[in-house]
Amino acid sequence: MSGPILPGATIGVLGSGQLGRMFAIAARRMGYRVHTLSPDDDTPTGQVADRETQAAYDDLDAIRAFAQAVDVVTFEFENVPSATVEEASRWAPVRPGGLALHTAQHRLREKRFLAAAGFPVAPFRAVNTLAELENAVATLGTPAVLKTAGWGYDGKGQAKINSPDQAAAAWQAVGGGEAVLEGFIDFQCEVSVVAARGLDGQTADYGVIANTHANHILDVSSAPARVSPRVAAEAAEIARGILSALEVVGVLCVELFLTRDDQLLVNEVAPRPHNSGHLTFDAAVTSQFEQQLRAICGLPLGSTELLRPAAMANLLGDLWQQGTPDWAAACRFPDVKLHLYGKAAARPGRKMGHLTTLAPTVEQAIETVVAARQALVARR
Ligand code: AMP
Repeated sequence: MSGPILPGATIGVLGSGQLGRMFAIAARRMGYRVHTLSPDDDTPTGQVADRETQAAYDDLDAIRAFAQAVDVVTFEFENVPSATVEEASRWAPVRPGGLALHTAQHRLREKRFLAAAGFPVAPFRAVNTLAELENAVATLGTPAVLKTAGWGYDGKGQAKINSPDQAAAAWQAVGGGEAVLEGFIDFQCEVSVVAARGLDGQTADYGVIANTHANHILDVSSAPARVSPRVAAEAAEIARGILSALEVVGVLCVELFLTRDDQLLVNEVAPRPHNSGHLTFDAAVTSQFEQQLRAICGLPLGSTELLRPAAMANLLGDLWQQGTPDWAAACRFPDVKLHLYGKAAARPGRKMGHLTTLAPTVEQAIETVVAARQALVARR
């Protein structure tokens, strides 16, 4: 195997959102160059990259030219076609590789993979027709959640079924097609583990992060999560196990439900840095973005130590409803860090930025970051 990809080299990022932007900031800080490719221009990643290519993900000529100009390809958006990954990997290493992407792109494939590998998941059934859904509802019981098998994030393509007579409406709501019916989990909380695996198979994790959602979109993350040492150890073991099973080189996030009887169930896996890990940018020795860079470049992983308890609050486009938020008001909180992604159009539900704070306790961190977010719109 050739040696590590060192500073001065060029990293190619497929996708151009905020994850790529924060990755590019970490990479440029360490002296790498960054190219990005996506169908858009003037993107969050493109604004801080050395080169921005505007092309469709299935434009294989553009993918070839992109891969030929870089030393390694990674992505910040996992729904790229497999032909794209294949084409890119003819010219440069793609990390993580096709197995992780292919598995995580498809909910059903992911669930089958996790279940077969012995990781705990919510009970589920594959459904392709309304009749199959009705059968699945009869066997799994209600409440249950119907989810499209492909695509879908932040609760999109999902419908809750509270009683068997709601099956047809749910089937219509998700648009039919290949889907998964999952038992509804009455969880005590949702948590995630961001972890990384290097080229040499070494793994590292950031411990358990607690997440709260609003309208199915991540709202506030905090770390360390207030879970028992046994739960923390099990969650980390699950994340590291999935990294190895998927042969990931890079960062991966596992989202989990913690049930009322303290059992962990994997909800979703994202083979890339994750929104719940944004707080590592300010709160950990090595951010999840630098960790991704180290892993894909074949460098040793950095320390995942958390400097202090921390919390992150997402800033969605809804905050812009009455005009531009009052940034100076958030800056009046000396411990709060403001991150904005450079997106021009603030649509409701769109992730525009986030706030992070460090504090002596996780409770104080949550309180401060939420107060700072409130201050952005308080003057109105
Ligand atoms: P997902 O897109 O699968 O991550 O789902 C988005 C959110 O919907 C999750 O973070 C949960 O809050 C909720 N959710 C999804 N699946 C389930 C389930 N099986 N039981 C309870 N809540 C769920």
